Amino acid sequence: MGILRIEGAETITVADGCQVHSGWTFEAVDGEITYVGPAEEFQPSDKPDDLIDGANSLLLPGFVNAHTHAAMTLFRGSADDMQLQPWLEEKIWPVERKLKPEDVYWGTMLAAAEMLRAGVTCYNDMYHLPEQGTRAAIEAGIRMCPSGVLLGFLSNAEDLLREAVEFCQDYDEAGDGRIKPMLAPHAPYTCPRPMLEKVIAAAADIGVPIHIHLAETEENVQSALDNYGMRTIQAMKEIGLFSVPVAAAHCVHLDETEIEILAESQVGVVHCPGSNMKLSSGIAPVPELLAAGATVGLGTDGCASNNNLDLLQEAQLAALLAKVHTGDPTALPAEVALTLATRGGAEALNLADRIGTLEVGKRADAILVDIDRPHFYPRHNLVSHLIYAARASDVRTTIVDGKVLLRDGQFTELDEQEIIAHACESADRLF
Ligand SMILES: [Zn+2]
Repeated sequence: MGILRIEGAETITVADGCQVHSGWTFEAVDGEITYVGPAEEFQPSDKPDDLIDGANSLLLPGFVNAHTHAAMTLFRGSADDMQLQPWLEEKIWPVERKLKPEDVYWGTMLAAAEMLRAGVTCYNDMYHLPEQGTRAAIEAGIRMCPSGVLLGFLSNAEDLLREAVEFCQDYDEAGDGRIKPMLAPHAPYTCPRPMLEKVIAAAADIGVPIHIHLAETEENVQSALDNYGMRTIQAMKEIGLFSVPVAAAHCVHLDETEIEILAESQVGVVHCPGSNMKLSSGIAPVPELLAAGATVGLGTDGCASNNNLDLLQEAQLAALLAKVHTGDPTALPAEVALTLATRGGAEALNLADRIGTLEVGKRADAILVDIDRPHFYPRHNLVSHLIYAARASDVRTTIVDGKVLLRDGQFTELDEQEIIAHACESADRLF
C-alpha cells in the first residue's frame, strides 16, 4: 500500500467540529493516517507512492452507512408505495426465500459499487447468507460490519444463532481488519424474549456488538406493550440488551424516558430518514436525542425502502426533516448533519477508535469531493454546500484503509459493468 499523500485540498477532519482548513496536507502510511495538517508544518519522511492533487477538492472522512441490507439492491423498485407489513410479508420475504449465494454476492457487489461512488467507505449490513456479502465486501475493498438476520420465530432459530456466533468468530478482522461482524436479531417483534436473551448472552460472551431494528413503527411499540407490558426501549433495557454495544436502527417512536435510556446506555441510534419517510414509519426525534447526549449515526436502510445507498442524501434529509418536524429552522444544522454522517456513524458502530474522523492514528477512510462545479460557488460555506447543495456524484475519489478504490470517478479495480450484468441476471431469476 505504501505512502498515500494528498496535497492542497480543502480539508474537514470532523475532529475539530466541521472547520474547513484550506490547502492542508494529508498522508497515510500503509493505511494509517500519519499526518493531517498545514502544508508548511508537514515534514515528509519519504517519497509518496501515490500523490493526489487536492486542488479544488474537499477532503473529508468517508461516509458511514450505519444501517442497510446491502444485497437488497436486487429488490430496488420491485415493490414501492406499500404498507410495511404487507410489503415485508407479500413482496420481500417470498423472494428472499429464493435467494441463492450468488444472488447475495452480486447484490452486495452492486451495493458496494454504488456506495463507493457515493463516498460511503463503511457500512453496517444485516442480511441473509452473510458469508457471501462479506466475501463481496472484502473483494470490493470497502469496510463493513456484517451480520446474518436472526428471526426468532423460525424453528431452527437456535441453529442459526450458533452459526452466527461461528461466523462472527471466523470473520473478525477479516479483509485486513476491515470486517467487524455483529450479531443481528432482526427486531423484538420477530425475536421473542428467550431468543433475544440468548443473543445478548452470546454477544457478551464473544465480545461483538448487536445490530437490531427498534421502535420503527407504532405497531412495533404496541407489540412491546403486548409482550412486555412496556414500550420498546424500556423493554429492551429490562432484558439487558443495552449491556452490550448496540447499533439500533430507526428508534422512531420514543417517549422522553426512552430517549434518556438510549443516551445513558450509549446505544448507537441509527437514523434512517429516507426509509422512515417512504414507509410512513414516522419521524425520529433526532434533535431531542442529540440534546440528551445520545450517539446518533445515519443509515440508508435497504434499497427496497429507500431506494438508494446515498448516505449524503440521508444527511440532507436528516437536516431538512428535523426542521419540518420541529418547526424550527435552526434544528439539526449542516455541521451536525455532516457529523452524524461520519463520526456519528463510526461511534454507532463501535468503530470510533478506527474511523469517522481524519486524525493521526486512525485508518485512512477518506473521500475527495469535486467542488469545482457551479453549485459549489460562491464559496460562502463549504459545509453548507455539502449538506444543502451537493450530490453524491460530486464524490470523485474514495479511499478505504489507505487504498484508492475510486479515482477521479473511475474504479481502480472493480468492473462496474460486470457487476451490473450479474446483479441483473440474479434479479431476473428472482422476480
Ligand atoms: Zn432495516
